[in-house]
Amino acid sequence: LIIPSFKEFKKLVEEVFEDVRDCKDGKAADYIPQLARVDPDLWGLSVCTVDGQRFNLGDFEKIYTIQSTSKPFTYAMALDLYGSDYVQEYVSAEPSGEGFNEICLDDNNKPHNPMINAGAIVTSSLVKPELNLADRFEYMMNIFRKLSGGTYVGFNNSVYLSEKSVADRNFALGYYMKENDCFPKGSCLKTILEFYFQLCSIETKCSAHCIMAGTLANGGVCPITGEEVLDDVSVQHTLSLMLSCGMYDYSGQFAYKIGLPAKSGVSGSILVVIPNVMAICLYSPRLDKLGNSSRGLLFMEKLLKKVNLHQFDSD
Ligand code: GLU
Repeated sequence: LIIPSFKEFKKLVEEVFEDVRDCKDGKAADYIPQLARVDPDLWGLSVCTVDGQRFNLGDFEKIYTIQSTSKPFTYAMALDLYGSDYVQEYVSAEPSGEGFNEICLDDNNKPHNPMINAGAIVTSSLVKPELNLADRFEYMMNIFRKLSGGTYVGFNNSVYLSEKSVADRNFALGYYMKENDCFPKGSCLKTILEFYFQLCSIETKCSAHCIMAGTLANGGVCPITGEEVLDDVSVQHTLSLMLSCGMYDYSGQFAYKIGLPAKSGVSGSILVVIPNVMAICLYSPRLDKLGNSSRGLLFMEKLLKKVNLHQFDSD
């Protein structure tokens, strides 16, 4: 077994989970009413090992939208379809040092990386552009379902409509990138943005979200079905970028302290991948100033004090 004493590990995780329960730091996102209305005290956690051992704590069945945690998966799908040479013609692989929704491109007029909005919007434009929007969405949903081993993946139409209605920044980013020829020829900006908002509005719960991340931990093979959903090379590239760019403007600090590929989203979830071992999904809506779940981060810091998960730990 990957975790030699799963029972002991579970006990340790439970202790840290309870230890940080009182953390009320930060504030839940309120830029759309659907996120503002969520109970900020929710606290859920799921673990999924690469050999399919799982456990869940707290509000692991509470449904939320995946938001920016869709970005690594969209990127991996694009790599799978077209290879990294093609994808890198459109999106670089460098931390931006700027906010996630900053209107900026690198020296070659490309978005810095696929984990920030600019890069994710361009990445969305690369996936199956020959299909109409309905078929594109269905194509992606099928992969998200496979990533989650056939557990819960849905779509939140209210969040989608809200995202679309407060999207001035993303539209501004889109037009700026269109002006700079960032999209493949023939792309329709409105369609690309709608597709991007739809991907942010996919909903799931900790227990299912964790299996998606578990598939990344397991080189693209879903730990509970054994299905090869993503190519291992696509997953490798994706994990590299999650390590360097996955946690907004805290990515460098997170890599330094925790040393694991991760991605967080504005609804309060954090996916943490321990390559070849397991994935942890945390859900707690209050965010710190940089946009990461405060309690989720505190949990990881405390967990790392008890167990050596840092990738560069020599023990
Ligand atoms: N819907 C958000 C946006 O594109 C996603 C934010 C996030 O999770 O970082 O602005």
